[in-house]
Amino acid sequence: MCGIIGVTSRGNAIDQIYPGLLALQHRGQDAAGAVTFNQGFQLKKGNGLVLNVFNQKNLERLKGNIGIGHVRYPTVGAGRVEDAQPFIITIPYGIALAHNGNLVNFFDLKKFLIEHELHYLNSNCDAEVILNLLSLELTRMNLRNLGPELLFKALSRVYKKLIGSFAVVVVIANKGLLAFRDSNGIKPLIMGRKENNYCFASESVALDLLGYSKMEDIKPGESVYVDITGHLYKKRIASGRKKTCIFEYVYFARPDSVIDGIGVYESRLRLGEELGKICLKRKIKPDVVIPVPDTARGAAEMVAEVLNVKHREGLIKNRYIYRTFIMPTQTERIEAVRLKLNPIKSEIKGKKVLLVDDSIVRGNTSREIINLLRSVRAKEVYYASYSPPLRFPCVYGIDMQTRGEFIARNKSIPEIQKSIGADALIYQTLKGLIKAVGNGTQGFCTACFSGKYPTEIPPLLLERIEADRMMAKIPDIEE
Ligand code: SF4
Repeated sequence: MCGIIGVTSRGNAIDQIYPGLLALQHRGQDAAGAVTFNQGFQLKKGNGLVLNVFNQKNLERLKGNIGIGHVRYPTVGAGRVEDAQPFIITIPYGIALAHNGNLVNFFDLKKFLIEHELHYLNSNCDAEVILNLLSLELTRMNLRNLGPELLFKALSRVYKKLIGSFAVVVVIANKGLLAFRDSNGIKPLIMGRKENNYCFASESVALDLLGYSKMEDIKPGESVYVDITGHLYKKRIASGRKKTCIFEYVYFARPDSVIDGIGVYESRLRLGEELGKICLKRKIKPDVVIPVPDTARGAAEMVAEVLNVKHREGLIKNRYIYRTFIMPTQTERIEAVRLKLNPIKSEIKGKKVLLVDDSIVRGNTSREIINLLRSVRAKEVYYASYSPPLRFPCVYGIDMQTRGEFIARNKSIPEIQKSIGADALIYQTLKGLIKAVGNGTQGFCTACFSGKYPTEIPPLLLERIEADRMMAKIPDIEE
């Protein structure tokens, strides 16, 4: 998961890119970068948070009224500063590109580029592969004047090579700003308009902040191009069935965002409502419902409403421990839970507590939280996840577990309950998840729950991801 932004502006684009990246910080805390164009490209990128990478001096250097930015979540094989985005290439035009997603045929494409000595690649990041393929197609077209039709034609050739998820923003020097989304629209991408200025971003929250009122989602397979005069061109480059990542609504996206017309907060409320109904059927009768902060707040409120019991903040999160907080060994990870969360004893002691969480990955965090509640004398602890059991790795850019590490992969629900030490364990159903998020609409990737991947998966890809994970010790999504 990463965050991207692209801006055309009357003033300096960085004045919007920088606050936009701050609004997208939750999508990646590993690295940040931006590039603007003003006669030449000005680039700044580095490892760390947006606030650490940028300062007054480098922001002043990033001049120009067109630019793109990126925040990175660590993915397999991409953790060095060389892998930070955006990337720039100078042929056949200056092109700068930033991307959110994951190409499942990345290794094949990289091999193709290197074997044919077409381009030298300096990173392990698939954004560089997309950039080089675009440069290659534009070079092959041997153009004097690049207009939108020819650009879309080159892009359609690039699309034919890409398999996986991608949401991309591109600056073409002296030409314009291009944005496009994969044919399934797995990763979100939204466009805002303010007079003749445009902004593309991973989430609507960035556009809200920047005062863009007119917004529309880029459709699956669609590309939008804004030339330097401010004219907008759109084209459906590839047809495909919409399969937006359902985990965006469960966990990744900010609750104040709207993705493909569905409010993230509202979808979490509905997920809580569905979960509450399951708890009712199971005759779970807690004294109090407590969310595992921060994501589960809205859902927990709805569970409490359905069960007609109190909702309380019983766990307080240290907000200065970021998602990238890495503990190298299992023991240290367990201790990390204590650093992150502290219980409010008065809300817990002597009570039957129903904890509501967004998901359960390995089960270690759930076990630690339950222990924490027992240590302050909760009478009983029930655990409820408003998403179904996670069983399959994500191949579209989210680093979850290897298959063997998912607690639900080889354990039944009663076995998981026993393993995490809960008095009851309640999971959302897949049907309930789709119903609650979709609110009458369909078209989601649910592969990490269902194993049904919306794209072709190259043979041995899952094994390769698992091997890379073992080697790299990438931090998992926060449980
Ligand atoms: S596999 Fe899961 S996390 Fe990955 S894109 Fe699909 S729904 Fe999202």
